[in-house]
Amino acid sequence: MSTEVDITIVGAGIIGLTTAYALLQRDPSLSLQIIEKELGPGLHQSSRNSGVIHSGVYYKPGSLKAKNCREGRQILLDFCDEHKIPYKQSHKLIVATKKEELIRLEALMQNGCAHGLSKLEIISKEQMREIEPHIAGVKALYIPDCHVIRFADVTNRLAELLPKKGAEVRYGEKVLKLHRKNATCVIETTRSSYSTKAVINCAGLYSDRIAALTGENKNLKIIPFRGEYFEVIPEKQHWIKGLVYPVPDPRFPFLGVHLTRMMNGKLEVGPNAVLAFAREGYRRSQVDFRDCWDILSYQGFWQMSKRYWDKGFYEMARSTIKKLFVHDVQKLLPCVQERHLVRGMTGVRAQVVSKDGKMVDDFVFKEDGRILHVINAPSPAATASFSIGNSLADLYFAEMR
Ligand SMILES: Cc1cc2nc3c(=O)[nH]c(=O)nc-3n(C[C@H](O)[C@H](O)[C@H](O)COP(=O)(O)OP(=O)(O)OC[C@H]3O[C@@H](n4cnc5c(N)ncnc54)[C@H](O)[C@@H]3O)c2cc1C
Repeated sequence: MSTEVDITIVGAGIIGLTTAYALLQRDPSLSLQIIEKELGPGLHQSSRNSGVIHSGVYYKPGSLKAKNCREGRQILLDFCDEHKIPYKQSHKLIVATKKEELIRLEALMQNGCAHGLSKLEIISKEQMREIEPHIAGVKALYIPDCHVIRFADVTNRLAELLPKKGAEVRYGEKVLKLHRKNATCVIETTRSSYSTKAVINCAGLYSDRIAALTGENKNLKIIPFRGEYFEVIPEKQHWIKGLVYPVPDPRFPFLGVHLTRMMNGKLEVGPNAVLAFAREGYRRSQVDFRDCWDILSYQGFWQMSKRYWDKGFYEMARSTIKKLFVHDVQKLLPCVQERHLVRGMTGVRAQVVSKDGKMVDDFVFKEDGRILHVINAPSPAATASFSIGNSLADLYFAEMR
């Protein structure tokens, strides 16, 4: 067993890295290690996403998402300025494609104002067309101050900075076991065994399994939802200049298939939300038997399926039948045809589902003695990551040191 460290962070995604950064900013004398099963940082959710720095218009006032998105966004932009990480200013339109959505659009506007977002405006069809001439809809919520980024640039920069601040980042090492021994914790990995005074679990798609190693978290489980994107062919990428989103369905925590002009200038359409048969199943054919057993043996999955079986089947059909996907995108962008879209990247969301089948909307952090678990950190956790890192550092210094 190697020498004892103060803190071990499991996972070098954006949450693990920003947490390490916050801890070492406050106390540079801490001995801290990050254990990551992959050979580099941020290779899962933190790089396979839409790359949108969210403004916070969607999140319920008082929620952890609202607070951390608002605060984290500014810290992220400041960090990017300081470290010369590129990001682009953009605008967002949330478009009501039918009259029934106008009440929800108005509610989003109120929500945004309650969060102190300025310059929001509900605009007419004609005004919308001036901003995005190819879009169809009844009205839209216009958010002028949005940004896109490659979150991988942020994780890569953090992974360069942290060793200079004294952190040990151990790649290619998977955490297998975690248990308590007197006042410390013991972590066993595929390579070694470590004694550590505190553990912060930032394992993303596997955070519920890491939590289960110490018996914590029996009532919540991660159900993986793949998000598939299409790319618009280069000749038609001029169709959209900024970000165009539908009005989200309030029953689901996902924002709906949107059009995003990315950092690299490409126009992406997606993501959908399809049940994945492997937690890191980026291809439709990928199946992991343990992950499937985890899903099928979980009461919460069956409760969720009872409630949303129609939507679930539709998402699966839309994932395989391109025509269906295109048909839905045409509601926002009528000129798009099947021939304009080619399959693009995919990501998998770690979505926590409770035993009674509810998709947990807000972030969930759980403290269990000397172990702190980030159980649910879905979108906008990349935007919010620096604020989440600060909150976890607060908890560590207040309760676990
Ligand atoms: C399709 C999609 C679109 C999204 N769009 C946006 C967006 O536009 N804006 C936004 O703000 N957010 C977005 N998000 C959400 C955001 O990407 C995630 O919330 C965020 O990246 C979560 O970071 P994380 O560090 O918790 O997880 P991850 O990035 O998944 O990192 C977890 C790390 O833990 C490691 N790990 C797991 N198990 C072990 C183990 N046993 N031992 C060692 N290491 C382990 C993994 O290898 C991984 O590197 C999106 C997410 C998806 C999937």
